[in-house]
Amino acid sequence: MFKLIDKIAEEKKATKEELLLLINNHSPENYEYLAKKARKVRESIYGKKIFIRGLIEISSYCKNDCYYCGLRRSNSCAERYRLTKEEILACCDEGYPLGFRTFVMQGGEDAYFTDEVLTDIVSSIKKKYPDCAVTLSVGERSMDSYKKLKEAGADRFLLRHETANCEHYAKLHPKEMTLQNRMNCLASLKKLGFQTGCGFMVGSPYQTLQNIVDDILFISEFKPEMIGIGPFIPHEKTPFKDEPAGSVDLTLYLLTILRLLNPNALIPATTALGTLQTDGRERGILSGANVIMPNLSPVATRKKYMLYNGKLASGEEAAEGLLKLKESMKKIGYEIVTDRGDFSK
Ligand code: SAH
Ligand code: SF4
Repeated sequence: MFKLIDKIAEEKKATKEELLLLINNHSPENYEYLAKKARKVRESIYGKKIFIRGLIEISSYCKNDCYYCGLRRSNSCAERYRLTKEEILACCDEGYPLGFRTFVMQGGEDAYFTDEVLTDIVSSIKKKYPDCAVTLSVGERSMDSYKKLKEAGADRFLLRHETANCEHYAKLHPKEMTLQNRMNCLASLKKLGFQTGCGFMVGSPYQTLQNIVDDILFISEFKPEMIGIGPFIPHEKTPFKDEPAGSVDLTLYLLTILRLLNPNALIPATTALGTLQTDGRERGILSGANVIMPNLSPVATRKKYMLYNGKLASGEEAAEGLLKLKESMKKIGYEIVTDRGDFSK
């Protein structure tokens, strides 16, 4: 297997068969070998730098009904809130002196955030903090809407494709949501010049190894600037409440492979990883990730943004815990930097 790993690392590509073989042979030895290579590749481009993004969860309202997500519209127990422009700017005011130079506004698909409302917020942040990047993660919108957001100054957009397989997509979403539309959105974002992020959950219900291979192949083909993967975690008020959580070890294994295939990508060690395991984020970094997204949302609303059970919102996950996070990164040989952390070609 080491020979195959050497080949994949060298060529930065892998076939379907090779990926199946590699994932089927998931062992601690292969992981260690992959992780060492993944760190080397990442360090050749980004050094020992870890970029941080201030995550601002702007709304827990969502018109969609994704079966896996706690914010789905059918979850009548979910507590709903949305932040005002002033509250969002206050999050930035808090984050900037802490060293955040990217603000990520994420939320459910909330009709309140029209193009007019959202472009006003984006341009206000850019005006106040011209040295910062603004990332959006607010779901599927029209090309025209994405264009307005880009023109208002948004730099990046995160939209996980969730799964590259139509049948699997249909098992995770109601009929009105289609993989085709998701993919069209990703293509629009890229065309408009956003640094674009896609990704998927590891261990989502009905996911097969073949699905994971197809996800990896799709990512190689799409060449996103950012790749977000994290374990699926059940939420008690969703149809998937009794499904098992995804595997942390498999997520880490996949992170190493994604790094080898996408040397320049910005890859976060996700909150979901940190939620399932106390040192999940550190292990993510040691598997080739180079981004962490601490929570900058107002403390009072964090508990309401429950995508899944037990989602971390305090400690090192929170922006207030940055000092601790810096220390824990230092301990494993990495350094959190004050930088926009743009994609490096
Ligand atoms: N509404 C936007 C952004 C918020 S959801 C969107 O859907 O794109 C952000 C991501 O959270 C989703 O893409 C999904 O991959 C992840 N997510 C949702 N529910 C989850 C769960 N139960 N476990 C793990 N990740 C989940
Ligand atoms: Fe809404 Fe996103 Fe959750 Fe789907 S994953 S229900 S779009 S917040």
